[in-house]
Amino acid sequence: AKRRGKNQFVIFDESMRQNTINMHNEELALAKAIEEEQLILHFQPQFDLELNKIIGAEALVRWEHPEKGLVYPDNFIPLAEQSGQILELGNYVIRKSFEYLAHREQLGLYPILLHINLSSLQLNDPNLVPYVKQMIQQFKIPGHYIGFEITETTLLTDIAHAKKTLEQLKMLGICVAIDDFGTGFSSLGQLKNLPVDLLKIDRSFVRDLETDKDDRMMVEAIIAMAHKLDIMVIAEGVETIEQLNMLRSFNCDLGQGYYISRPIAEDKFDDFPETIIVE
Ligand code: C2E
Ligand code: CA
Ligand code: CA
Ligand code: CA
Repeated sequence: AKRRGKNQFVIFDESMRQNTINMHNEELALAKAIEEEQLILHFQPQFDLELNKIIGAEALVRWEHPEKGLVYPDNFIPLAEQSGQILELGNYVIRKSFEYLAHREQLGLYPILLHINLSSLQLNDPNLVPYVKQMIQQFKIPGHYIGFEITETTLLTDIAHAKKTLEQLKMLGICVAIDDFGTGFSSLGQLKNLPVDLLKIDRSFVRDLETDKDDRMMVEAIIAMAHKLDIMVIAEGVETIEQLNMLRSFNCDLGQGYYISRPIAEDKFDDFPETIIVE
């Protein structure tokens, strides 16, 4: 029994060591990816449901991996958050977003509001606001072309600090959006003290709009209340015309999802028309 115990310990220890090594290798690979600009942005159009116009886009990061091909963010963002590399990765995404807006301006393409996902560590990073200020100056792109998508959970962990940072971002003209709204158990009441411009209704509510009466009522109520608080609403994960029309009937302001367009690479997004008839 003693020997088995010892062996088990050895096995456990070895697998832990292996984990540490693997973790370290992944971190190194990610650091290299940032350094060598293997991370690229795809853009998913955000559509004004009343004007039938593209008014913005969400920047979604992908890793063009030399061996694995295109790797999606769910496979490396959690690691980056654990290792702290999300700060560097996040600044990279912010810089690339400004670069893209400057590129659009140079080509004379129609203006868009580019939304960037912000992790919790980034919101608490004292360098965030100075970095954004620096980008605004460097690329000569006014802050009102940029939005940050922040989840409820991120905002509510340290609400006093979040409020301070959001107010500083607002002073730069930046749009503040609540991502995945409805999944984090926060109420609009809690959010009314924060400078929020846009609510993003989570995909899970949109998915079941046609079949689930409760989801339908929730979405309709969220939109009505948000509007009373002067907050705009975007629905994510719009995949069918039925969902889109239902959202229109609830006076939802904006929509995003495969029905309008999948996330697309920069050059394809350059060619995306400003006005599309969606019916
Ligand atoms: P998210 O912010 O909720 O982004 C929306 C995700 O839904 C994207 O997945 C998008 O491709 C996908 N999607 C868009 N339309 C539809 C649709 O109609 N149907 C369905 N089923 N899915 C749709 P993606 O690109 O794999 O990103 C996953 C998550 O990774 C994002 O979720 C976001 O939390 C995170 N992420 C992406 N880019 C960044 C980044 O630059 N920084 C940080 N911190 N997180 C990022
Ligand atoms: Ca998002
Ligand atoms: Ca989302
Ligand atoms: Ca999500």
